[in-house]
Amino acid sequence: MKTFTNTNAQTLDQAVALVQQARTDGQTASLVGGGSDLLALVKDFIVKPDVLVNLKTIKGLDQVVPGAGGVDIGGLITLDALGSHPMIRSQYTVLAEAAETVATPQIRNVGTLAGNVCQRPWCWYFRNGFPCLKNGGSTCFSVGGENQFHAIFGGGPSYIVHPSDTATALVALDAKFRVVGPSGERMVPATDFFVLPRQDAARENILAPGEVLSGVQLAPTPPVRRSTYNKVLDREAWTHAVVSAAVVLDMDKEICRRASVVLGGVAPIPWRVPNVERLLAGQRITPDLAAKAGEAAVAGAQPLAKNAYKVPMTKALVRRTVLALATRA
Ligand SMILES: Cc1cc2nc3c(=O)[nH]c(=O)nc-3n(C[C@H](O)[C@H](O)[C@H](O)COP(=O)(O)OP(=O)(O)OC[C@H]3O[C@@H](n4cnc5c(N)ncnc54)[C@H](O)[C@@H]3O)c2cc1C
Ligand code: SF4
Repeated sequence: MKTFTNTNAQTLDQAVALVQQARTDGQTASLVGGGSDLLALVKDFIVKPDVLVNLKTIKGLDQVVPGAGGVDIGGLITLDALGSHPMIRSQYTVLAEAAETVATPQIRNVGTLAGNVCQRPWCWYFRNGFPCLKNGGSTCFSVGGENQFHAIFGGGPSYIVHPSDTATALVALDAKFRVVGPSGERMVPATDFFVLPRQDAARENILAPGEVLSGVQLAPTPPVRRSTYNKVLDREAWTHAVVSAAVVLDMDKEICRRASVVLGGVAPIPWRVPNVERLLAGQRITPDLAAKAGEAAVAGAQPLAKNAYKVPMTKALVRRTVLALATRA
């Protein structure tokens, strides 16, 4: 592991300033929340920071703060605290369920919401230091190599899948991301936060160097809303989604007035399926309609040589999740 200096930020402004100072001094700096992703990358020489800016020393950035405009969730909240928070569980169930499916209890105890959303890809080639597009190179090794867990939508020139369970849920909830940087604060809709490789193959989101994801804002939950997160893994626990579905339905008795359906594990960004949302809106959700939703969810899928199994898996997951949520007592 390369040597680095650790700095404990006391405020968001100080965190931003510490990154700026490092850059002015010709050094590289990395933000660190729980460190459960970053420190592995540092140990493996994938990321080589001169300075670590520790965000966990900023007080108050781990709170859930309800207000008239919904709820503000601090980016430094741990995944465990998020998943077990009573208000998040009852009103933003999809987010609580997504948080509690992440990794292991140990990782959920240290991993933060912002760190989970901003975690780097888990493509085998990237994590093993291959000089691919994500590691400063000019090629993608997965296209003709190991691509069992890669994208079936939105791929090219990199074919990663976005690894964050909470990101998928946040897009389904139309969250706004609070970004703090050298020029102040801005709110970014969750859908605009993530970047496809064709826009920029080297990164996964719009954060500029030195910008911090300080939290997320969620609109109030209407009483008619119900939501859930379902995830398929290749083993019982402790791993990322092979395919996942975050579904939010506003129900008027048996009729779905509005649907939000976002897929995880299938694209380089949380993958919204607007054709499925349109299909469900204004309809009674029957087994037949849920099956049609499953079919619509995979329209336009472009599997690689080794991941075509994700197409029927996605179809089945969307069908089951939509039907179970709509018919839940
Ligand atoms: C074995 C294993 C299994 C896993 N399984 C899953 C899973 O099933 N689902 C899932 O979603 N994840 C999974 N993960 C990833 C895990 O959830 C992440 O490691 C964790 O959520 C990252 O949180 P952290 O606070 O520790 O982030 P850190 O390691 O501190 O940071 C992660 C990245 O985000 C950046 N960052 C951190 N905080 C901020 C901020 N506030 N603003 C801007 N950038 C920031 C860092 O610079 C770094 O690049 C798994 C990880 C492991 C090791
Ligand atoms: S999918 Fe992305 S991370 Fe994986 S080898 Fe290709 S460019 Fe690298």
